[in-house]
Order: sequence, then structure tokens, then C-alpha cells
Amino acid sequence: MIYVSTRDKSIKLSASEAILKGLSDDGGLFVPETMPHIERKLQELSGLSYNDLAYEIMKLFFDDFTEDELRNCINNAYGDNFDNPETAPMSYADGSYYLELYHGPTIAFKDMALQILPHLMTTSARKNGVTKDIVILTATSGDTGKAAMAGFADVPHTKIMVFFPHGGVSDVQRLQMVTQKGDNVSVISVDGNFDDCQTGVKQIFNDSSFKDEIAEKGYQFSSANSINIGRLVPQIVYYVYAYCNLLKNEKINDGDPINVCVPTGNFGNILAAYLAKKIGTPIDKLICASNMNNVLTDFFKTGTYDRNRDFHLTMSPSMDILISSNLERLIYFISGCDDKATAVFMSELVSKGKYTITDEMKLNLDDFIAGCATESETSSEIKRIYDDTGYVIDTHTAVASYVANKLNKTGRLSDAPLVIASTASPYKFARSIVDAIKDISSDKDKDGLHMIDELMALTDMPEPDAIKEIRHADIRHDGHISIGEMKDTVREFLN
Ligand SMILES: *Cc1c(COP(=O)(O)O)cnc(C)c1O
Repeated sequence: MIYVSTRDKSIKLSASEAILKGLSDDGGLFVPETMPHIERKLQELSGLSYNDLAYEIMKLFFDDFTEDELRNCINNAYGDNFDNPETAPMSYADGSYYLELYHGPTIAFKDMALQILPHLMTTSARKNGVTKDIVILTATSGDTGKAAMAGFADVPHTKIMVFFPHGGVSDVQRLQMVTQKGDNVSVISVDGNFDDCQTGVKQIFNDSSFKDEIAEKGYQFSSANSINIGRLVPQIVYYVYAYCNLLKNEKINDGDPINVCVPTGNFGNILAAYLAKKIGTPIDKLICASNMNNVLTDFFKTGTYDRNRDFHLTMSPSMDILISSNLERLIYFISGCDDKATAVFMSELVSKGKYTITDEMKLNLDDFIAGCATESETSSEIKRIYDDTGYVIDTHTAVASYVANKLNKTGRLSDAPLVIASTASPYKFARSIVDAIKDISSDKDKDGLHMIDELMALTDMPEPDAIKEIRHADIRHDGHISIGEMKDTVREFLN
């Protein structure tokens, strides 16, 4: 299989090269030149364990890995570190199937990809004769940094350094990060906001003399961000797994369609569902659910992507995004793989903050329906599901649940089973969940751990290990620097 850049199809790489590189030099994203197809019958696959199914799907995309290499990556990624033997189990509530993607070490769905990415990267390095150790630098507004550290911790031949804005993450997010174990990890708070951290990391990545300096010490930089195909492809697996789960439990017959609804930010998770459909999973509609930052809802309705709008901080912060970077891949596919057209749209996004797709391309958006939820609609949905069924969902999942149910009520969905991607444990956003269920606004003096206690008392939901850990774990990282000190801090870390 060949991967090409969405902005220039003459750039061609193998899967392992694309994983190592992350982003193409022309700014484009890597996509498969031709789409593979699931070879075996889904009925046959429905008997497989998560890891065996992961192998069947990932081998279609990572075809330059040997069977041993790929199975090793998978087995290192999905095992006892997940607190459910099924890895991605489903719960049935209120007439829908909630696909729980939060049973990994950081209790959010980013684990599904970031637990395997380090292994895919080190295997790719070995395959391509790279002898340097890989250094990951990440700026985080809370969740991604922790998930990346948890994935890379103690993976040989890698190091990871994470920068977060001082005072800019929740108590629980900060505790999760500063207690991270592993000899190859470091996390530091920076006097500045998330954008300052992000800009600092980008400057280090673009500093060629610094790159030479660390190369002499045996290191090269890489990035763990969500445009890497090493993060995208592992996310296809759980949509096929969800379908197989319904087959195995005789909720559907082989070939019957399902609908899938995904709470969307960067457009990575829902793009994985789209690819699951493209390779042969019978999915009818893909529902793209947004919070008040509803740039994607408008895009699917009008064909214009316009980031020139107010930015809202919401109770579903991982979806507070105005530039959904993975959408570029969809633009490429719906343009009939037109790299020149994709490049033009993306440069318009930079210069004008918007672009409008052609009428022909709009016709290819038929797989999708989009919708959004306000803050009060999101909290009411958490309360409604809890009051009616006792099931507890987090704020991100609630956005998806609200949007899907509204479409259902207005007759816009077929009566095929509905699978809702559930992207975080309610414990990760305890304050919002308690406030929603009790229909109050809790005292801001109560800290994050206090709100977790309240959620536990209220719902009887077992406390995940990830939360137990932060109650007792030692603080291992207490560094605090100014923006100007980021580069020196990286230098020290590598000495
Ligand atoms: C990252 C994230 C999302 C959004 O996923 P995208 O792939 O960026 O669309 C939704 N929910 C949670 C909890 C997340 O961490």
C-alpha cells in the first residue's frame, strides 16, 4: 500500500515511512492511494478477540509490517492496561448502544490510538534503519499530553516531554500529568496559555540548528498529534468491532446497516468511522456531533467551512476546536482525490479563514448528517439518560447522544441500530456531570477530587484505577518555567 499527500499525489511513502513522518513536507496529510477492503466475512470476524480483529484490520493499512511486528504492537497496546477485557465494550441504554472507548489508562478515547502509536513508531524506525531515539514534544491543554505520556512511558528508544499552561488545566488533569511514571517522561508547566506552549513547541521543531545539535546526541524529534496515520488507523478497528459485537449478540444480521454518531473536534474519530464504512462495514449514516463550536455543523449544511467566528469554552473541552485538521482528508476523498483542489482549499483556509466546496463535492457528503448541542442541551441529556436508565455519560458523549436523539425524533435516521461513540469516563468531568444530574451549579471552591467523591456517592459507579492512582501517587514533576526557557529545558532533558 502506498500513502500519498492530500496536497501532492506525487509524494509517495510506505506505511511505516508515513508513520515516522507524521505530516507531509508540503503540509498535506497522508492517505492511502487506494482503499483496501475487509477480506473476510464480518460474521467470521465476529468471533475474534479485540486484538485479533485489530490485526485483521490494521494489516490492510500497514502492509509493510510483518505479522509478528504488527501483532507485537497490538499486544503491547491493548491488554491489562485496559480495565475491561473487551477493550471497547458496548452498553445499551435508552435504545442506543454506547461504544465505551474510555477503558484505557487515562480514561478517555485518545488511549485507543496513543497506546499503540509509540510501538508503531519504534517499529517503523527499526524497519527504516533509523538508529536515533525518538523524542516526542507535545503542548497540551490537558488530555492529549497525559494520554501521550501514558503511551510512551518506558517504551525503549523514545523520550517524551509535555508542556502545559500553568493554571490552565483542571486539578485532575494536572494531577494526572505530574504523577506520570516512567524514566523517559517529563512534564513541565509554562507561564503562558496553551497557544504559547504550542507556538514554543513548533519553534523548537522548526529550529534546524537545534535539530542538528540533538542529532549529534542521537535523537530526532517526532510528533504524536492526531493527523498521524498511526493514530487514525487504530481508530477504525473499534467501529468494525462494534459491528461484530452486534452480530455476535444477534442484534443484527450480517449486512444489516447501523448508524454511528461521533462527538467531534479534530474530525479524527469520525473520519475513522468513515474509513470503516469505506472498507466494507455496513454503516448507513455517520452523524457528526459538535458542541457550540459548531463550525462542522455549518460546513455539512452549507458546504462552507468558516472559522471566522467566536470561540466558546464549553463543558466538552476536547471538542473546543475551530480548525478540524483531519477534515482535510475528507475534502481530498470527496473531491475525487484531487490533490490540487485540496491544496487550494487549505490555502484559502489559511489566507481567508474559510473555503467553499463545489456542488459536486457536496453530493459526496451524503454519508454524513451533522448537528450540534448547546451547553444546556448537553447537561439536560446527561440528566435525562441518568434519570431514565441509571446510565451515566460524560459531557462529550452527551453532545453526541443529544444530537442523535434529536435526529431520531425528527425522523431523519433509519431505524437501524444506533452506535454512539462514548469518548470519556464521566469521572474525567465529574463537576459537570454532578451539576447536570443534580441540576445545580456546584461551589467552585470544591476541588476536582471532591467532585469525584460526590459523583461516586451519587451514582455508585465504580471508581476507575486512573482516579484511585492520583489520590495516592507521588508528585514526580514539579517544573515550572517561562516561555523563553522551553528550548533549554528540552536540552537539559536530553543531556
Ligand atoms: C479528542 C476528543 C474528542 C474529539 O475527537 P476528534 O478525533 O478530535 O474529533 C471527543 N471527546 C473526547 C473526550 C476527546 O478527548
